[in-house]
Amino acid sequence: MTHSVDAPHETYGIEKWGKGLIVPLKNGEIGLKNPLAPDAPAISLPSILADLDERGVHVPMLVRISSYLENEIRHINTSFRDAIARAGYQGTYRGVFPIKVNQQAQVIDRIVEFGQSFDYGLEAGSKPELVIALAHKLARDALIVCNGVKDTEFVTLATLSRKLGFNTVIVLESPKEADTVIAVYRELGVEPLLGVRVKLTNQISGKWQESSGDRSTFGMNTDQLVAVLDKLRDAGLLHCLKLQHSHLGSQVPDVNDVRRAAGEACRYFTELTREGAPLTHLDLGGGLGVDYTGEKRATENSINYTVEEYASNVVETVGYAMDEAGIPHPTLVTESGRAVVATSSMLVFNVLESTLYDAPTAPETGPEDHHLLTDLAAVADYLNADRVQECWNDASFYRNELRALFRRGYIDLRQMARAERVYLHLMSRIKALVAGMEDVSDVDNQLEKAADIYHCNFSLFQSLPDVWAIDQLHPIVPLQMLDQPPDRRAVLSDITCDSDGKVSRFILADGVSPSLPVHSLPADKPYYLGVFFVGAYQETLGDLHNLFGDTNVVTLDLRADGGFDLLHEQEGDTISQVLSYVEYDPADCIAAFRKMVDGAISAGALKASDRKLIMGAYRDSINGYTYYE
Ligand SMILES: *Cc1c(COP(=O)(O)O)cnc(C)c1O
Repeated sequence: MTHSVDAPHETYGIEKWGKGLIVPLKNGEIGLKNPLAPDAPAISLPSILADLDERGVHVPMLVRISSYLENEIRHINTSFRDAIARAGYQGTYRGVFPIKVNQQAQVIDRIVEFGQSFDYGLEAGSKPELVIALAHKLARDALIVCNGVKDTEFVTLATLSRKLGFNTVIVLESPKEADTVIAVYRELGVEPLLGVRVKLTNQISGKWQESSGDRSTFGMNTDQLVAVLDKLRDAGLLHCLKLQHSHLGSQVPDVNDVRRAAGEACRYFTELTREGAPLTHLDLGGGLGVDYTGEKRATENSINYTVEEYASNVVETVGYAMDEAGIPHPTLVTESGRAVVATSSMLVFNVLESTLYDAPTAPETGPEDHHLLTDLAAVADYLNADRVQECWNDASFYRNELRALFRRGYIDLRQMARAERVYLHLMSRIKALVAGMEDVSDVDNQLEKAADIYHCNFSLFQSLPDVWAIDQLHPIVPLQMLDQPPDRRAVLSDITCDSDGKVSRFILADGVSPSLPVHSLPADKPYYLGVFFVGAYQETLGDLHNLFGDTNVVTLDLRADGGFDLLHEQEGDTISQVLSYVEYDPADCIAAFRKMVDGAISAGALKASDRKLIMGAYRDSINGYTYYE
């Protein structure tokens, strides 16, 4: 509450985390800058929402910005290209996008389109993802890298796809998979393109520590690698082994972990080459992080490096190691997912209502009130900046005593309601005092517990699953009124009936805060909030808690003239759709409801003329959006 900032929007640290893409506009609205047209003016996000609203597309909505996706694909590919040129590296870079990070057709289609000129490929971690990859026309030299557990069907499809010109690499995860590959080769007589997944022993820091090192569930240890080499050699397939893969886990915070892992990977590459494997591709997996908080530090939600630094660290480490071993520089492959798609999507929703933990006025107390209530009211008389902590303590004490009396039946509902009002009014006076103070020690922290609850039109479980599951932080800001000082602090609650459905960690200019500075809700217009960088993982990890389905999704292109084009609209799930996901047939539901309506008419409980009305209400619901409309 004590930030001394020049402009109201500076509270949110948008300049730090916004990457120059999300910017505050003079009129107090959030603007979107087009990185591909740096001279173009930023476009107001609320004005985009108003335009879409007129077209009948409403919040809650996921907004995908095609220009941001294109920008990130260019960014990673040119970063590697430049690093390779700078270091005099002899190999090339062939990135692949891991489909699991965002499998949506609109996203993958665009990734493939924007990646053509970079020979950018796809990574498939399962059969369905391979089926997706094979439905795309990739550049001639682009790769399809197949990771994950594979059965005969998977291996057969991957092997045969080479006949269509796909460079599909089957990455062996275990000696057993080598057996499957050999059996399929003997059956089909078609040679596969093979890789091996090695388990590096270096551990990374951050949230994904467990997915690296000895106990990681993926990849082969040295003993298993030797077994695979022997099997392939015996089957006459060792010459098909072209790629070595390893993956550290996601969101690697520290670039030195990237260097160490690349160095260790090179040791395996050297040894496998000495064993006679004609390796040409070194695949270092994903892990390139996103600086969600803008801190530029090696913390869970930040990273201490740029994409350029990541690329040059990889290129330099590998080039140096290969020179030492006297091995030609391999083609470099990475499988960055998060860094490619996270920034391109944002979730926007409206605030439906607020629960305030203060009150503008307090009732007069009198002799008929319980003495604890008059004591509580009397705190107002000695409340000042010097005694704010004392007043807070006293108010809390009296309120708790009064609650105890209420529970035991000594005071009635109306007395208790008066007490709550007196307490909440004290709260507003304390909040106002603290807002103007420099050193407020503990009270400031305690006041966080008295933050408002803003009830928002979205489902955390459907749209921000990682916020719930792994404490992922995403920047969240009001999309308007940023030219006015926020006058409230709030936590956000979603519309599921789950007490876990709330957001209570926010990225602000001066660090992570348990509440978000917001404005009093305007009476006459919607108040929108935006959650940024949600393009990675959130869409498919989301679930149907309380049967809130997919939100509306729009894909936009930012035009150079400051306008936007609506490239695609995907309507969110209807109630009928989510019912069918949980084994209900909507037609059966309608029939069952109609039967009850007719029964009620027969019994005289409902007028026949009301049948149309009540059936209409049921049908409207079943055909409608799952969110608040
Ligand atoms: C998940 C995954 C990736 C993507 O990781 P990011 O951190 O999103 O870049 C890449 N490769 C493999 C094998 C994965 O499992």
